[in-house]
Amino acid sequence: MSAPDPTTTPTVADVVATLDARYPPSWAESWDRVGLVLGEPEAPVRRVLCVVDCVPETVAQAREVGADLIVAHHPLLLRGVSSVAPTTYKGRIVHQLIKADIALFVAHTNADVANPGVSDALAARLGLLDPRPLRPATPGDGPDGDGRGTGRIGRLPAPMTLAELTHHAAVALPPTAWGVRAAGRPDRVISTVAVCGGAGDPFLADASAAGVDAYLTADLRHHPVSEHIASGGPALLDAAHWATERPWLDDLAPHLRAACGVEVVVSDLDTDPWTVHDSLKEPRS
Ligand SMILES: [Zn+2]
Repeated sequence: MSAPDPTTTPTVADVVATLDARYPPSWAESWDRVGLVLGEPEAPVRRVLCVVDCVPETVAQAREVGADLIVAHHPLLLRGVSSVAPTTYKGRIVHQLIKADIALFVAHTNADVANPGVSDALAARLGLLDPRPLRPATPGDGPDGDGRGTGRIGRLPAPMTLAELTHHAAVALPPTAWGVRAAGRPDRVISTVAVCGGAGDPFLADASAAGVDAYLTADLRHHPVSEHIASGGPALLDAAHWATERPWLDDLAPHLRAACGVEVVVSDLDTDPWTVHDSLKEPRS
């Protein structure tokens, strides 16, 4: 792709082309819905707001900062709709965006599997060394492959206990009410860690097969976790979904600035639905 011409303002179509080159839509899962959601392709883009979720709070933020385009991780419209009437939750968002002349673009599972992708940014936040895919996009992909795939496996610079790793993750990740909880013996020594941004329970078996000491993801549930731990699998860390994907925006933003010559604002609005967390119990060994 040619370098941006500094004398002309990039259009929505220009930014979409840049994003499609880094996160080809063909890499998305078949059930996913990625790409331009709304916005005129020829409209100029001076400022972009990068978010995990396109929700009323981040739409308001886009208006406040004067963004012409929102790049979101989660699809606004994943399942079929028969109305975008402003009396519906998502229809209201669609109306607000169109009225404010703000385009919306989504890169979801195509950004998850990219290299660098969502889980690379998560692994980097945790300081993991030598990251490689947890589930390679191309089965059998070795060290000489293109490095695409879901999740990442890496090595901690120095071993630490599960309790220490849980605290380390809580400090390294963006703060949320949910924080980080872990399953497994608190004194278990952890050297190798798998991570997956977002809901990573479909990859519990991959983490076990990889032989890592711990697996950090989000949205884990009671029964799968109990059975996984009982069968001797890696320790599990369950972070806030938003917090596991927010680091990716720090990788996306400089790329957009350099490739498109646009201003980019990264949203730090915590859009995780959990707002309160309390516990009176000390860690259980
Ligand atoms: Zn997600």
